[in-house]
Amino acid sequence: MNKLIYEYLDELFPNPHCELKYHKDYELLIAVMLSSQTTDIKVNKVTDVLFKQYPTLKSLSQAEYKDIRDILLSLGMYNKKAEYVIKIALELTTKYQGKVLNDREVLEALPGVGRKVTNVVLGILFNEPYIAVDTHVKRIAIRLGIAEEKDNVYLIEKKLSKVVPDNLKVKIHFQFVLFGRYHCKAIKPNCSECKLKEICSYYKNKKSA
Ligand code: SF4
Repeated sequence: MNKLIYEYLDELFPNPHCELKYHKDYELLIAVMLSSQTTDIKVNKVTDVLFKQYPTLKSLSQAEYKDIRDILLSLGMYNKKAEYVIKIALELTTKYQGKVLNDREVLEALPGVGRKVTNVVLGILFNEPYIAVDTHVKRIAIRLGIAEEKDNVYLIEKKLSKVVPDNLKVKIHFQFVLFGRYHCKAIKPNCSECKLKEICSYYKNKKSA
């Protein structure tokens, strides 16, 4: 990947990190699952209540569905997510001694946990070299010409993985997320301030349009 991208993202986000709040491994897993199609700010508000009212995996696994659903009301797909929270807690408790394992197959098989959530969790907890492709990562990869509009998320992950060295994959994931969240936004990206104009396909197309 063009070294300008690494340099600029290091300048903007020298120590990128996950903005979801968690204290335990399973809390991270649940928070990442909950973050689908909503903001980290909303998830943090919800998990603050959720993990206080249900401070252990066991208590979460025994929770009443409607009580969890009520806590998750401000999130999209709260019905499904409430079901997933209880089922994840139950599976981790009964099958894996309450542990979040460094095992893609196990994680991806958990309710509501797909490849993206698994990549984030493996990257943060075990520093495994994966790039999770969310809406921000997808947009930045396309705008910078690393991927194409027609690519699915799996192909975008493959293309990014090819051009980003293993030791930088987790970092680049977070830098792309933060860059997309605060600078290269979906609507009205801050192109005038951006140091990637020279190499940005989106900017070049916009200029020539
Ligand atoms: S020039 Fe604009 S579209 Fe391109 S990366 Fe920068 S902010 Fe995003």
